[in-house]
Order: sequence, then structure tokens, then C-alpha cells
Amino acid sequence: MNLSIVVPIYNEEQNLPLLAEAIRKALTDIHKTYECVFVDDGSSDRSAQVLKQIAAADPHHQPVFLRRNFGQTAALSAGFDHARGEIIVTLDADLQNDPADIPMLVSKIEEGYDLVSGWRQSRQDSMIRNLPSYVANWIIGQVTGIKLRDSGCTLKAYRAEVAQSLHLYGEMHRFIPALASWMGINLIEVPVRHHARKFGKSKYGLSRVFRVFLDLITVKFLLSYSASPIQFFGKFGFVSSGLGWLVCAAAIIMKFTQGRTLTGNPLFYLFTFMQIIAVQLVLIGLVAEMNMRTYHEVQKKKTYVVRKDSAGR
Ligand code: UDP
Ligand code: MG
Repeated sequence: MNLSIVVPIYNEEQNLPLLAEAIRKALTDIHKTYECVFVDDGSSDRSAQVLKQIAAADPHHQPVFLRRNFGQTAALSAGFDHARGEIIVTLDADLQNDPADIPMLVSKIEEGYDLVSGWRQSRQDSMIRNLPSYVANWIIGQVTGIKLRDSGCTLKAYRAEVAQSLHLYGEMHRFIPALASWMGINLIEVPVRHHARKFGKSKYGLSRVFRVFLDLITVKFLLSYSASPIQFFGKFGFVSSGLGWLVCAAAIIMKFTQGRTLTGNPLFYLFTFMQIIAVQLVLIGLVAEMNMRTYHEVQKKKTYVVRKDSAGR
């Protein structure tokens, strides 16, 4: 199998037949074996039935049905797990992404890139939708160091090994380029088409801004410190302890110059407080270290990712 097309679907019954047809058209000329892994994310409309009809008519379709609505990130993750192609392309089901871009993305992978990320150059969404995205992309770039114009575009192509080593949860599909960068990948962003939604409606409101922000903190932590949390917490512990000693010195100086007793000086209590905080932070770091050990050892997770073409594999 050369190519797997993964599509997360939640209540898109009207879009599905058009999407399946557009994908079929886009892939007729590229001479590749392919499968479509449409993932029904517990839709409450007729999407699942429509999907079964499509699959019955076209053997390229290997749909996956989730038992309930787990969210777009989980749906993508399920798609990756079921995909058998060497290259995986993901796109939205709502026809906002254009399947006609798939051959171009695939050719980029064949040029040697590991992840090709779509950039909705002229995006057809409302201003209230676009502005938070713009800000989010800027912040994601600053925080993770992976500066893309459009990190959240679902239309992406992956070398399968890259997609399948991501461990996605929460709202993390928006940070895939940053998460994947941890593995050491060749990443490129290419302009893709974008259309306004014709059928159905967007599944997200403004509340996503907060969820994305919280997940961003997690991603930053995972990328920078998960290998060694004591480094992260310990650093703050040292800062707290150091500042505490400065405060203590000030209190001692005040004792000799102004005759203030230590126990009568709030600064002395601040010193005590900061030492306690310092110890707590170091202990949290140690607990997190134990956690990471369990994580790596119990799940046999590796602290590195090997290229598929390495010798002896
Ligand atoms: N989606 C999903 N599960 C959800 C929400 C959305 O699989 O819980 C799918 C949805 O069907 C669509 C894609 O994720 O294919 C993007 O959703 P949407 O178009 O609502 O997002 P927007 O384009 O507004 O960012
Ligand atoms: Mg959409």
C-alpha cells in the first residue's frame, strides 16, 4: 500500500459522498495503491450509514467507527493506527481542504520530506475564526520554536513512521509539527487551497482558545523537559532558595543597622516560606522523574526515534 488518506468525521453526512468522489478523482492519475481510512468520530447524524454505503461501493474505503465522540485529535490518532500506507495524508471531511492538493503533498514526501504541512494561504473562514488562529500560530511558533504560518491545518502529508510515532491526545493535533520536530524531521510548509464550508457547521466555538492554550503549555513542557523534569522544577527551586537567602541577608542587616529582631521582621518569614517552596519544587521534580521512569519502562517507550532505513532493521 502506498498511500492512506485519513479523514476525521463528526456529523458530515452531506459532505461525505462529495468528498469520497473528490478523493477518487484526485488519485486516479497518480498511479499509487491507496486506501481511504475515514474515521467516524461517533457522529449523531447519518454519517456512519453514509460511510458504510461508500465503503460497500468502493473497496478502497476501510472506514473506522469510534464508539462515541472522542474529538478530532483522537479520530486522527485512530486513523493513524489503522492506516497501512507508507505515506499518510490527513484532511478535513468538510470539503474546506481540497483533495486536489493531495498529489502535490505526496510528491513533496517523495522528494524526501517527512512532514508536509498545508498552509491555507487565502483562508475562507470568518474573521472571528481567523484572528485567534493567527495569534495562536504566532504563540506556538514562539513557544515551541517551530515557526509555521498555519500549524492547525489538517491537510498534511506524513511519512507513516512519523505519524505513527506521535502520541496524540487532548487538542494536540494542532501542534503536530512541533511534536514531530522532537523526532528530528524534514518539515516543509506548502500553500494549499481552502474553501468555505457549504454543508454542516464548524464543530468548535471560542472555548477552543482556552483548550488550545492549556495544551500548548503541556506541549512546551513535553518538548523541553519531559526527558528530565527535575531540571525544570529544580531550576525554580534554586531560584526560590537563592532569593530567600537574599531576603534573609536583608533581615540580618536590618537587625544590626536598625535593631529589628528577626522574629519581628516579616522578611524573615518570607525567607522561611521560600525555603519551603524550594524544597517542595525539588520534591515535585523527583516525583515527576519517577513518573517518567515508569512511563518509559512500563510502556517500553524509547527516549529516541530511529530512522526506518537504519542498518539491520
Ligand atoms: N471533527 C471530528 N470530531 C470532532 C470535531 C470535529 O472528527 O469532535 C472533524 C470534523 O468532522 C471535520 C474536522 O474534524 O472533518 C474539522 O472540524 P471543523 O470543520 O468543525 O473545524 P474548523 O474547520 O472549524 O476548524
Ligand atoms: Mg472546517
